[in-house]
Amino acid sequence: MSGGQRQRIGLARALATMPRVLVADEPVSALDVSIRSQVLNLMKGFQAEFGLTSLVISHDLAVVKYLADRIGVMYLGKLVEEGRGEDIYRRPAHPYTAGLIAAIPEPDPTLERSKSIRGVVGELPSAVDPPSGCRFRTRCPIAREVCATVEPTLTRLSGSHRVACHFPLVLPGSAVAREHAPAGLTTLVPEDESDAIHSFKKTSTPMVSRCENDRTGR
Ligand code: SF4
Repeated sequence: MSGGQRQRIGLARALATMPRVLVADEPVSALDVSIRSQVLNLMKGFQAEFGLTSLVISHDLAVVKYLADRIGVMYLGKLVEEGRGEDIYRRPAHPYTAGLIAAIPEPDPTLERSKSIRGVVGELPSAVDPPSGCRFRTRCPIAREVCATVEPTLTRLSGSHRVACHFPLVLPGSAVAREHAPAGLTTLVPEDESDAIHSFKKTSTPMVSRCENDRTGR
């Protein structure tokens, strides 16, 4: 049997007991591109037809974007950003998420060449002995001193959009992010949309204090 046929059989076996939740770990990573779309459409159809909740684990952002209503981005075993697909793809707040999205190749070679950011640079640190503070700090283009000592916690930006970063990219007036990000990184969010993105007030209060306040519920 072909890879696509085997994957369909796997889906049929998983659905035979009429589950309410389906966990799919890299469901189409081993398939040809032409077969991928067929299997993805099948999964999408099942979601609608059976009211199925799917937990999809994937490194392929196109797959995640197509299947998921809510997306959680993980780095070195920690959830760094969570939100609706629209939040994650149009308004990424974490530098790692922004780097991942920037790494998606553009079909148009001219557009691809004109990109100001290319993705996430540097080596992945050891998960056994992760960096202190923020685990992403060794690869983050806007890391500051505080990032090495204080681990950021998941903090609500708006609605269900949450991020674990001291200097979220979408924060209006986030001077640190805008001053220190490479050209193009913070322009992922149109200026005129930024005020509607979240409920943080424009203030000079350092982000670290605000994150700590959120942790204590104040
Ligand atoms: S907390 Fe600091 S190092 Fe971590 S992602 Fe945010 S800015 Fe970068």
